Amino acid sequence: MKNLIILAGLTLIPLSGCVQEKIDYQVLHRDALVADTHSDTPLRMLKGFDFAVRDTTGHMDIPRLQEGGVDLQVFACWLSTDTPIEECRSKTDKLIDSLTAQVERHPDKIAFCHTAAEAEEIIASGKIAAFIGIENGVAIENSLDNLQHYYDRGVRYMTLTHTASGDWCISSADTLPAFEGLTDFGREVVKKMNELGMIVDISHSSVRAVEEILKVTIDPVIASHSCVHAICPHDRNLTDDQIKAVAKNGGMIGINFYGGYISAEWNQLSDSFWTAHQVEVDSIKALYPNDYSLRQQAYKPLLAEMRVLREKLNVDVGSVVDHIDYIVKLVGPDHVGFGSDFDGVYGLPQGLTDCSMVPSITEELVNRGYGKADIRKILGGNFMRVFRTVCDK
Ligand SMILES: [Zn+2]
Repeated sequence: MKNLIILAGLTLIPLSGCVQEKIDYQVLHRDALVADTHSDTPLRMLKGFDFAVRDTTGHMDIPRLQEGGVDLQVFACWLSTDTPIEECRSKTDKLIDSLTAQVERHPDKIAFCHTAAEAEEIIASGKIAAFIGIENGVAIENSLDNLQHYYDRGVRYMTLTHTASGDWCISSADTLPAFEGLTDFGREVVKKMNELGMIVDISHSSVRAVEEILKVTIDPVIASHSCVHAICPHDRNLTDDQIKAVAKNGGMIGINFYGGYISAEWNQLSDSFWTAHQVEVDSIKALYPNDYSLRQQAYKPLLAEMRVLREKLNVDVGSVVDHIDYIVKLVGPDHVGFGSDFDGVYGLPQGLTDCSMVPSITEELVNRGYGKADIRKILGGNFMRVFRTVCDK
């Protein structure tokens, strides 16, 4: 970090000659609009807890969002692709209901936003703006009327698929796709989302599906929680061509904090660890074939062992900012932000293990010499531009 003087939160950035711009990352973080484009917290809400009480079992609650200076939080209502189609709408409604109950219980601290202008008003009044997303297009039960229903309930983005393909959009994890990217109905979904003013989320979609989405959409899209394939080759991450295509579309990419999308070494370690422990894994599966929570309990010693090994990899906030840096160098500072995936993943980088630690991203950006304007774009400005373009029209 040559020529930088770092004093507890105050970094002096050397400009040409001896002129120096002082950036206090804490002041900048507090002042900037900070938006996280993806968390899976509604799933935890289904189990029942008070979102206004600090809770160490998950990654997010109101006190920790406030500590982390997060102004806008996307709450993704996630459905597994194997949900029977006739149950998808009622399960999604239940997730929205539990999120609504939490938000309405604390009207002095958090409120739903449906437009960017509304979000800015909520944030200016000192509250957190809650944005409802749906993760997995199976939620609409193959009906455009259900898309309208979710829009009316306040949903403002939908991730079209998940780790298994649905009936009309192919997942990035699908190695034997039944059709090319999107079906005709899938194209109708994208058009209807444009018409309603709902953001299309390309995270989890296959390369071919993303190409088709970008051909059809007249609005900017987001990848709410994806990383850079060139740094970590994983099907969930975006290739350089995809990043350039999102930039051309005017969209943005929220960098996911999950270690398995951030670091190739992390994946290699996971693969070799589980291969080495295959016998134990098989016996746990045989012991608890149908009880997910007992199985998770039995995995705990193995997970603890793997956590110790992962810590030696030193995947940290700098590793996350490497992905931001890569996108900025490839397409400029207007197309990247962050989508933590908090409460949706198990392995997070050191120093970024819950939402109270988000200011460390700002600190790292300042330490790398980013200017205030670009940091503001990355922290939330880029997402707000897409939000405004799609939902305020
Ligand atoms: Zn996801």
